[in-house]
Amino acid sequence: MRLILLGPPGAGKGTQATRLVEKYGIVQLSTGDMLRAAIAAGTPVGQKAKDIMARGELVPDDVVVGIISDRLDEPDAKNGFVLDGFPRTVGQAEALAHLLEQKDLKLDGVIELKVDEGALLKRIEGRFAEMQARGEAVRDDDNPEAFKIRLTAYRKQTAPLVEYYTGKRQLMSVDGMAPIDEVSGNIDAVLDGK
Ligand code: ADP
Repeated sequence: MRLILLGPPGAGKGTQATRLVEKYGIVQLSTGDMLRAAIAAGTPVGQKAKDIMARGELVPDDVVVGIISDRLDEPDAKNGFVLDGFPRTVGQAEALAHLLEQKDLKLDGVIELKVDEGALLKRIEGRFAEMQARGEAVRDDDNPEAFKIRLTAYRKQTAPLVEYYTGKRQLMSVDGMAPIDEVSGNIDAVLDGK
């Protein structure tokens, strides 16, 4: 199974990706996680991405496309994958299509988690306040200010992918505002009905 999860920050892509990983025995490929690992390890990619990510902006396409291309070649990705947070621009989607063609791999579909933006901002503000109250470490970009920039980046640069994948007849939309288990059930339903 080879899938893309599409949706704004805070929509629950990570949560659903984890479940798909268990269900299909595939790997979760999150460019956000990979970039945070690169920052922690102090690699050149990490150094390039650090400040951009903290602001809530997108790192350049060639950086993430390079990471994903390498990652797709790892043995554990052979059984399938769920892309979480990639592609995030039409340029990345085109690069991915090219990569998959080169590697002779076919995508099973793109699952869009549809959510209400106002509710998202409330979700993230609540999460931020709770974590701060508990004295937990929060991500550099998990504050309401950077979150607004991440939402704007989504609207401008990523939302056009809905149309892009609709045009390729690969888009399957699911209501992301429902309770977690219900969202999972709806994802199962659209995948079964394919
Ligand atoms: P979220 O989905 O909550 O925004 P992510 O962990 O997916 O969280 O992404 C965090 C940040 O990492 C993004 O705001 C961006 O700076 C960077 N990033 C992750 N994936 C990509 C990508 N495909 N293209 C460009 N930047 C990315």
